[in-house]
Amino acid sequence: MISTAIGIFAKIFTISFIRYLVFAGIAYLFFYVWKKEKFLSHKIQNKFPTNLVIRNEFVNSLLSIILFSLVGLGVSLLHRAGYTQIYERLSEYGWGYFLLSTLLMILAHDTYFYWMHRLIHHKRIYKYVHKVHHQSINPTPWAAFSFHPTEAILEVGILPIMVFLIPLHPLAIVAWILFMTFMNVLGHLGFEIFKKGFVKNSITRWSNTSVHHNMHHKYAQYNYGLYFNFWDWAMNTNHPEYFEEFNKMAR
Ligand SMILES: [Zn+2]
Ligand SMILES: [Zn+2]
Repeated sequence: MISTAIGIFAKIFTISFIRYLVFAGIAYLFFYVWKKEKFLSHKIQNKFPTNLVIRNEFVNSLLSIILFSLVGLGVSLLHRAGYTQIYERLSEYGWGYFLLSTLLMILAHDTYFYWMHRLIHHKRIYKYVHKVHHQSINPTPWAAFSFHPTEAILEVGILPIMVFLIPLHPLAIVAWILFMTFMNVLGHLGFEIFKKGFVKNSITRWSNTSVHHNMHHKYAQYNYGLYFNFWDWAMNTNHPEYFEEFNKMAR
């Protein structure tokens, strides 16, 4: 039992850590090393973070990934014991449901994140839970999972909730994790890569941008959303200068 658990944990941790290294590493090497000069005019905040800031982002992310993996292990053990709605044969619910469940996972996470994020900005909670993430005022891709341990558990909390609520195939969970990692790295990129007009287009305006989350780090209020602009729009929490700032930084 214990050796099985250690084996599952080791597998989840290795895959999760490599995923972080690949997504954040490629973004960092491309924008902060290889194409630094080319994209300089799209750098949202002029300064480049010190090596100490980057090291802290990396170490905090590594600790978060260990905690994510422990929660992943818990979910895996609950599944093995038959307590979750995770299913293994795609044919059981078909491809249509597979796509729908992936979308539902993403939408549920977006809603969960927005409200959890508003909660941890409450003045009584902020300094104990969320301050670590905001130590990166000018974040790099390495800050994607730079959380206090309590926040790391809260962040991954949507997974154990969803596996009880709806049938999910492991591949739907993987697709959600890849999308989540991509959007997290994008939000902490420090460079705006989308084109001018992105926030005006009736479809793309609903996606958040690198400027959107960067402004959250710079001002520590406004722009609480993760993937989509729906909740910030509905709750009127977009920074008043977001669209203007985006247009200044966009390509
Ligand atoms: Zn952030
Ligand atoms: Zn925040």
